[in-house]
Amino acid sequence: MHLSARWRASAAALLTVATAAGVGAVVAAAPAASAATACQVAYRADQWTGGFVGYVKLTAGDTAIHGWRIGWTWPGDQKITNAWNAAVTQSGTTVTAVNAAYNGDLAPGASLEFGMQGTWAAANTAPTDFTVNGAPCGATPSPSPSSASPRPSGSSSASPSPSPSRSASPSPSPSASPSPSGPPPGCTGALWCDGFEDQTGTVPSGAWTLAYPDCQGAGTAVVDSAVARSGTRSVRVDGAAGYCNHVFLKSTRDFSSLGGVWFGRFYVRHTTALPAAHVTFLAMRDAADGNRDLRVGGQNAALQWNRQSDDATLPEQSPAGVAQSRPLPVDRWVCVEIRVDGPAGQVQTWTDGSEVAGLRVDGVPTADVDRQWLSRAGWRPNLTDLRLGWESYGEGADRLWFDDVAWGSARIGC
Ligand code: CA
Repeated sequence: MHLSARWRASAAALLTVATAAGVGAVVAAAPAASAATACQVAYRADQWTGGFVGYVKLTAGDTAIHGWRIGWTWPGDQKITNAWNAAVTQSGTTVTAVNAAYNGDLAPGASLEFGMQGTWAAANTAPTDFTVNGAPCGATPSPSPSSASPRPSGSSSASPSPSPSRSASPSPSPSASPSPSGPPPGCTGALWCDGFEDQTGTVPSGAWTLAYPDCQGAGTAVVDSAVARSGTRSVRVDGAAGYCNHVFLKSTRDFSSLGGVWFGRFYVRHTTALPAAHVTFLAMRDAADGNRDLRVGGQNAALQWNRQSDDATLPEQSPAGVAQSRPLPVDRWVCVEIRVDGPAGQVQTWTDGSEVAGLRVDGVPTADVDRQWLSRAGWRPNLTDLRLGWESYGEGADRLWFDDVAWGSARIGC
């Protein structure tokens, strides 16, 4: 797939920045002291303007590791937005990563890798001061004895005894398997991307919450481990007909760094074709429009945008207008991309990488497409939230899934 080519390209670009911290480079290693081999921590990253994906590889030395907490400080202004295969927290420039339930045990010589995605502005310099359970690898013998003993602070120092789940024995093979490791496909350039692989229960949590605007009825949204586009999880929405049965999976992330230009990418899998009635599966609050929603959904069996405040539609719902949009296929994953340029008042839409002509607002009036939309002069949306789900206004029910959601300020791709 072409993704891997891009991936390598950005990795190559990084190497000039991250200097010696190339793939597999050992940053904090054992002193060559004696026969004893200490643990090792290596860091590598892929970066682009404003964002990065970083990987930390921990290799046990002669001594097995039972539960690990890895700490470091960022030399630059990196901020982590998402992580996998570890619970990662950041305070200022200080980062702490604690093993997941399934990867706390490392036999002598075995290794594991966890990853994170984040943002940066001024510098993305690789960190070098890794500690494992409170001390640098190889620092045990001589220095002050106090530094080697884990501090009794948080939750994790002594305990995390791993449950006998998933990986039966800690295999020394580093990464490879695409399942719970690695970011969702097509994350390059995104502010964040989310394949729901870090969701642990059926109720969406962490970067997502549930929202039932206005009233709560029969609509549900759950983390689904039976259907996934990537990895093993997605979010399934069961949307029922009727105004009060809508349900949304709402992002809890901060979108302010996007600066008013939103590029969104998500994969959706519908069970039922878009109905004749008006429905919505993506809603974004517009602070410049009385906090009413800017919506993406369908009507007359084809995709459409809708402005809640004045019910303007894109395209116009004439037969000639609808013909310039397209229906959504069912029973397969479809890549939907949107662009909302708030300062310019423009909108674009793609499905599976192909732009939909009838779903475009570019400032130039187009018959049957955007005359109704442009009837409000000076429309300049200021979007402040993101909700994926199902909203029906009368007729129209569907079971649909979302996966591999990514948002950024430049086009992300499928
Ligand atoms: Ca997934």
